[in-house]
Amino acid sequence: MITHPKILVLGGGMGGVEAAINLSQRLKGKAQIDLISNREFLYIYPASIWLTVGHRTVEDLSLPIPPLAEIHGFNFLQEEVQEVNSSQQYVITNRQKREYDYLVIALGGSKLKPKGIEHTRTVCRSPQDGIDIQEKFFQLVERGHGTIACGFSGNPKDSTAVRGGPMFEVTFNFDTYLRQKGLRDRFELIFFTPSPKPGKRLGEKGLAQIAKLFEKRNIRTMTGRKITEFTAEGVVFEDGTEIQSDLTVFTPGMAGHPLLKNSDLPLTEAGFVPVSDTAQVKDLENCYAIGDCSFFEGPAWRARQGHLAELMARTAAENIERQVNEQFPRASFREDMHILCVMDLGDEAVFVYRDDEKAIAPQGAWARWAKLAWERYYKLNKEKKMPRLM
Ligand SMILES: Cc1cc2nc3c(=O)[nH]c(=O)nc-3n(C[C@H](O)[C@H](O)[C@H](O)COP(=O)(O)OP(=O)(O)OC[C@H]3O[C@@H](n4cnc5c(N)ncnc54)[C@H](O)[C@@H]3O)c2cc1C
Repeated sequence: MITHPKILVLGGGMGGVEAAINLSQRLKGKAQIDLISNREFLYIYPASIWLTVGHRTVEDLSLPIPPLAEIHGFNFLQEEVQEVNSSQQYVITNRQKREYDYLVIALGGSKLKPKGIEHTRTVCRSPQDGIDIQEKFFQLVERGHGTIACGFSGNPKDSTAVRGGPMFEVTFNFDTYLRQKGLRDRFELIFFTPSPKPGKRLGEKGLAQIAKLFEKRNIRTMTGRKITEFTAEGVVFEDGTEIQSDLTVFTPGMAGHPLLKNSDLPLTEAGFVPVSDTAQVKDLENCYAIGDCSFFEGPAWRARQGHLAELMARTAAENIERQVNEQFPRASFREDMHILCVMDLGDEAVFVYRDDEKAIAPQGAWARWAKLAWERYYKLNKEKKMPRLM
């Protein structure tokens, strides 16, 4: 039995912070828990869609990690991870070599770089990227007219490596904002994606609902067309058609974290770390990978979500506790897995739930209130001012 084991959590996002908190709750005083991340705050991506229309600031969306570390009793180290060596159980950062007994990798993913990507803006990276969209959007609002194109694509090497949801939200938020300012008829909004059925994870009913929403809000869709490149003028498709846009917001397909190539970890073709239902990395019993950086076999509807990253984090924490207590790690995230998210439309929202048995997507102003309430709850819960509800 290892006395006072060293547990390293890599990445201070939704998965990593939940792992550090849950590990602290389970093993406080019995283990050293260090969270290493390059940002000193957790960025609340699900609410970052509101940055684009000026309804949030970067501060609103940032949860500083040092106070969380103090409240929950883990150590926070602001360092850049550069290499993981799982056979010798150490990690190299920009500061030093750090050894571990248990490792939780929660470094998130990266994005593919299609031709001309520099001509697009994204909500899926840093807070500054969200600010860039906001600035350009407000310039267009000031000018009083324009064309805005929003889209996403996937990764042909991994059907789960796609993030379309936020692009729906950003598009509908632009639409609502422009309507509220009485400018909508002077703007063209276009939604584009190579996927022939964008939003298929919502189920057949949800798909029809999205199509109806686009129609009702007069948002032109260009779906099922492969993108050749992005240019300063807009988007060029393989079939020769083009979109001329003043602002192109785009989320490319996802891929694994590039630094994981500097590791001896097993990786899928798309660069993700393959894990079993216990969140343990294939063939490595003291090494866990959770959230966007991981890959597991599962139902076709599964999606890379903050909600799942947190579920995997709690599974990893429970299994590490079991290992520390010399028990078999048998907690699994599989049974509790489902899609749960609220797709904001700017003035109402769609509440999306999906599991093996059902797919529902009711819509209404109440769902928007649920998302706003979740944002508050999320911060309060992490600050230990409110118990966990889900
Ligand atoms: C715009 C947007 C909206 C979304 N909306 C929803 C939603 O409504 N509901 C939902 O459930 N999910 C949503 N998601 C998905 C959700 O945010 C992700 O699935 C979740 O953040 C994944 O958590 P993670 O911990 O795996 O990765 P991340 O949250 O990306 O965290 C990774 C962390 O690792 C750190 N890091 C990266 N590289 C290094 C390094 N080399 N060294 C040290 N630290 C490093 C990063 O700074 C970051 O803090 C949304 C995502 C986006 C982008």
